[in-house]
Amino acid sequence: MSNKSIKAIKGTFDILPSETPLWTHIEEVSRKTFEQYGFEEMRTPVFEATELFVRSIGEVTDIVQKEMYTFTDPGERSLTLRPEGTAPVVRAYLEHRIHVNQPFVKYYYIGPMFRRERPQAGRTRQFHQVGVEAIGSDSPGVDVETIALAYRLFVQLGIDDVSIRLNSVGCKPCKENYSGLLRKFLKPRISELCNDCKQRIDRNVFRVLDCKETACRKVVAEAPSILDSLCKPCSEHFDEVCKLLENIDVPVNIDPRLVRGLDYYTRTVFELNHSALGAKDAVGAGGRYDNLIEEMGGPAKPAIGFAIGLERTIMILKKKGADKVSSDKDKVYLISLGQYAFELNFKLLEKLRRCGINASMDPEPRSTKAQMRAADRIGAAIAIIRGDREIEEGVVMLRDMRKGNEDTIRKDNVIDKLLEKLQGEN
Ligand code: ATP
Ligand code: MG
Repeated sequence: MSNKSIKAIKGTFDILPSETPLWTHIEEVSRKTFEQYGFEEMRTPVFEATELFVRSIGEVTDIVQKEMYTFTDPGERSLTLRPEGTAPVVRAYLEHRIHVNQPFVKYYYIGPMFRRERPQAGRTRQFHQVGVEAIGSDSPGVDVETIALAYRLFVQLGIDDVSIRLNSVGCKPCKENYSGLLRKFLKPRISELCNDCKQRIDRNVFRVLDCKETACRKVVAEAPSILDSLCKPCSEHFDEVCKLLENIDVPVNIDPRLVRGLDYYTRTVFELNHSALGAKDAVGAGGRYDNLIEEMGGPAKPAIGFAIGLERTIMILKKKGADKVSSDKDKVYLISLGQYAFELNFKLLEKLRRCGINASMDPEPRSTKAQMRAADRIGAAIAIIRGDREIEEGVVMLRDMRKGNEDTIRKDNVIDKLLEKLQGEN
C-alpha cells in the first residue's frame, strides 16, 4: 500500500468545529424562517435514478450535460448524486401521492448537492443548499410569499442588502414565441457571440441571455424583451406579482434579461445577488415550474421554489464581518488537583450533564495550568476547581472565567448554584 496520505476529493471540503457554529446558525435561522412562513421540512435521499434529473432539468442544460455525478451501481442502474433539490421533492410528492389529499403544500429542504464544476471561490463540487417548494397553486400571492421569504431569510441572517432581480419567462407558448423572436434577432449577429452561444442559438437560446461573456452581453442588451411577448394571462400574473411585492415592501429590480439555466422554469423567475460576490455569481435563485409535475407523470400542479447556496451565503457574511456567532449555551469545565479530586469530579461531571449543563474535563489529570488553559480554550463560563483542601472541607471552588472572581460552595449545593449562575447569564 502506498503511504501517500489520503486527501479530501477536489472540490469538496471539511467543515471543522471552528466553523460548524456558523453553519448550524444559518441552518437554524433557515428552519425558523421557513416554518414562520408555513413550510414543512422534506428530506430526500442524496442519490436518485439518473433519469429523474435528465427528464426534469432538461437534456441540454449544463447540469445534465456536464456536471452530474452519475455512476452505475452493481445492480446496473444508473444513479446520480442529486445536483439540485426540486426534482427529488417533486418525485417524493408524486410517489407518496400527496396531491390526492393535499391540494397545496409547502416544503423546505436543507442539504448537500453535487455538481462536477471547476472548483473556484464560491463554486465547489459538493455544496449546500437550503430551498423551498410551494406546490399546487399558480396564484401570484404564492410567488410573492416565496420571494418575500427568500428576502426575509437574508435579513434574518444579517444580510439586508441582497438585491433581487425579477422577470417572467411566461408560459410554454410565450417561451416558444420568444425563442423564435430571439433566434431571429441573434442569427444575423452570430459572429459577435462566444462559441458556446453560437451553439446555444439552436439548442437553448434562452441561455444566450444569461451568458457572462462581455461580447454576448453587449449583443443581448439590444435583444427584444421577453416581457413584451408575454400572453395576456402571463402578463397580468407578472403585474400582480410586482404590485403585491411593492405592497409588502420587498425591493426588486425587474430585469427582462434574467433567465434560469434549468428547462423547467415558467413565468416568474428571480435571482438573489450581493455585491460581496462577483457580479456573475448569484447567492440564490428560483422560479415557477408550472408544467414540471405534469411532465413527470403527475397531475397538472403549478409550483414555485428557490434554492440558496450556503457557501456563498457564508462568503457574504464573512465579507460583512457578520460571521461570528456565539454558542447558545454556557460551558462548565471541571479542574482537578490530584487523583482523588479527579475521580470525584468525574462523578460530578456526569451529574451535571444529566441536569442539562454543558460540562467537560480533562481525560486525565494534568497540571492545573494545563487544565486552566483547556477551560479557556473551550470558552468555559465557569470552572469548578477541586483539590485536597476543598475535599477536606466538603466544598468546591467556582471560578467565573469571565469576571475572574471565585466563590467557595458547599459541594451539595454545586448544581443549584451552577444552574442559578448559568440561568442568570442567559
Ligand atoms: P451559477 O450560475 O452560479 O452556476 P446556478 O444557476 O447553477 O448558479 P442554481 O442551480 O440556481 O445555480 O443554484 C442556486 C444556488 O446554489 C446558487 O445561487 C449558488 O448559491 C448555489 N450553487 C450552485 N452551484 C454551486 C456550486 N457548484 N458551488 C457552490 N454553490 C453553488
Ligand atoms: Mg451552475
